[in-house]
Amino acid sequence: MASYSGNIFMVVAPSGAGKSSLVNALLAQEPDMMLSISCTTRAPRSGEKENQHYRFIDKEEFLRMREAGALLEWAEVHGNFYGTPRDRIDEAIAQGRDVLLEIDWQGARQISQHFPEAVGIFILPPSIEALETRLYKRGQDAPHVISRRLLAAGSEMSHAYEFQYVIINQEFSVALTQLSQIVAATRLRYATQAARHASLFSQLGISGAA
Ligand code: GDP
Ligand code: ADP
Ligand code: 5GP
Repeated sequence: MASYSGNIFMVVAPSGAGKSSLVNALLAQEPDMMLSISCTTRAPRSGEKENQHYRFIDKEEFLRMREAGALLEWAEVHGNFYGTPRDRIDEAIAQGRDVLLEIDWQGARQISQHFPEAVGIFILPPSIEALETRLYKRGQDAPHVISRRLLAAGSEMSHAYEFQYVIINQEFSVALTQLSQIVAATRLRYATQAARHASLFSQLGISGAA
């Protein structure tokens, strides 16, 4: 087992800003990174697969899991419950693997309380018009669902200041490069480097403590 911890990255955005697209493209470059699969009471969209996009469960099961302490965080978003199962995350971090969470701002707050070193990244759209266009073009949600998500976008974005990093997803390739750069910089933080290269630090007479 690794003697160092993995990093936790929380990617947060209003619906349609491009967080799933960016996260999937990052994972294609970073096969060792673990994506947390959330539980949700939302109905699957066409093409969404059980245990790949989400674990789709009913409200009773969600509440059971919540009561049993099986969720690291949970929130009600756009009228549905979402939560991060605890088990795989604890395991991945203990193995020194980096973990990616695609969650909302309420969940990010809870994760930061458990893991103050977790890195928060907020994805903004280049404009409200672009957000609307993307939600319609994605073609996955009914018009009333899109309206609800657009209405929520302003209040969600008002929490962007709580995050360490902000990426404006205008040109996709630029936004992806920026996301990779945040991951790369995080891996060079003192505490991570000192734990990962403990014997070198010791040979060089450098303290392991940050
Ligand atoms: P999207 O906004 O188009 O990605 O739509 P989704 O229905 O997939 O997600 C709705 C919201 O729930 C988004 O803000 C997600 O980030 C958030 N979300 C997804 N999974 C979780 C989770 O496990 N915990 C929390 N707190 N939020 C989640
Ligand atoms: P989210 O997960 O934040 O709801 P998605 O990743 O599903 O967002 O992206 C919403 C839609 O916008 C998708 O159809 C996606 O292909 C498109 N999209 C994402 N990023 C960009 C971009 N930079 N320019 C144009 N369209 C984009
Ligand atoms: P969607 O229904 O479009 O997949 O997601 C809607 C919102 O729920 C998004 O903002 C998404 O990030 C958030 N979300 C998805 N999974 C979780 C989760 O496990 N926890 C929290 N807090 N939010 C989540």
